[in-house]
Amino acid sequence: MVRILDLRFQGAEQVIASFLLESKEGPILIETGPESTYPHLAAALKAEGLAPEEVRHVFVTHIHLDHAGAAWRLAELGARVYVHPKGAPHLVDPSRLLASAERIYGEMLGPLWGELRGIPEQRVRVLADGEVVKVGGVEVQALETPGHAGHHHAYLVEGLVFAGDIAGVRIAPGPVLPPTPPPDIHLESWYVSIDRILALRPEALYLTHFGAYRDVEPHLLTLREALEAWAGFVLSRMREGLGPEEMTRRFETYWREGLAKAGVGGAGMRLYELADPPFMNLQGLVRYWQKHHPEALEG
Ligand SMILES: [Zn+2]
Repeated sequence: MVRILDLRFQGAEQVIASFLLESKEGPILIETGPESTYPHLAAALKAEGLAPEEVRHVFVTHIHLDHAGAAWRLAELGARVYVHPKGAPHLVDPSRLLASAERIYGEMLGPLWGELRGIPEQRVRVLADGEVVKVGGVEVQALETPGHAGHHHAYLVEGLVFAGDIAGVRIAPGPVLPPTPPPDIHLESWYVSIDRILALRPEALYLTHFGAYRDVEPHLLTLREALEAWAGFVLSRMREGLGPEEMTRRFETYWREGLAKAGVGGAGMRLYELADPPFMNLQGLVRYWQKHHPEALEG
């Protein structure tokens, strides 16, 4: 049984989730949310009759602050943190992660994401692709799923996929949108990851942003279409030679119109913006084209 813990990021519901699984060896957590919402995580655990120190096994899909920012807190209380091999060094020494977050968020870094500290190496457990961890009768399998980040794992547990960001952001009743922040966006890898999840025919996708969805195939196909459409839109604007400000304005309009067309009003848009800010999506896609397909920009 999966419990979805709403971490109430920035006071909003349905933006960032953590997932609680029961096992005979105690609770398992998938995703921790940012450190700024740690009090909500602790409160949500308490509501389930659990203390944070009872959580011994924490799986993070990737090290972005909205997914793993509070992992050090649980590690400090004795948990083991499972992560992709390329993510592990940044959990142990978050200085580079912090520096790049500081460049993006400036003085909003603390208020948005809280505090970040390193995790002692012996508390970090690296998972290879396909590796299965057995905890108290529950089997958790790591699935390497790059595209959103180069170091992203989804986790397969009894036919359910805990997808991190690779299966998109969807805040019911809104549509699925791709989270495409810098610096690692790679569309070709992302499509392979989508195909990999489709081939598993999971019963449900658990999205960190936000919740469980059982219409797996249409969901993933829609995500793929949205990725292609966004990337195509950004490429066209880059070819027009727009400056950053005009480009941002145009992308935000495109983003807003897309959501409005899907029936999402202002309050819903605010949630999408918190989970998956359009200015970041734009930056990530610009970087993707510059880094991987500079030739496409000359067209
Ligand atoms: Zn995320």
